Amino acid sequence: MECLFCKMIEREIEPDVVFEDEQVLAFNDINPQAPTHVLIIPKKHIATLNDVGEEDLALMGRLHRTAAELARQFGFAEEGYRVVMNCNEHGGQSVYHIHMHLMGGRRFSWPAG
Ligand code: 5GP
Repeated sequence: MECLFCKMIEREIEPDVVFEDEQVLAFNDINPQAPTHVLIIPKKHIATLNDVGEEDLALMGRLHRTAAELARQFGFAEEGYRVVMNCNEHGGQSVYHIHMHLMGGRRFSWPAG
């Protein structure tokens, strides 16, 4: 198994878990870009956003619901937060297992760099 995030799901590498259910895993980013920076991933291996199929739509919704629920738990849901999914080279994707970045605890600028 070559995928870093699949290794975390299988606990070949131990993630710093903040949430887990049968379909989703969320853990702290190793290189946080905000006071809270969590990666939310599906347990199903999907390489990029381009590979999401019709059968994955409920799973994608679950990632978003998880982000909002974690934002509430971390206490920044009302003041706001940033959710990002990078796709391929120009999008800045470095790990090819889709992941939602949930960042909060500071103000973010726009447009993205
Ligand atoms: P991407 O650039 O693909 O959108 O995001 C990949 C994220 O994975 C980056 O924010 C990076 O810091 C994080 N990351 C890379 N390797 C590891 C690791 O071994 N452990 C954790 N927790 N995060 C990682």
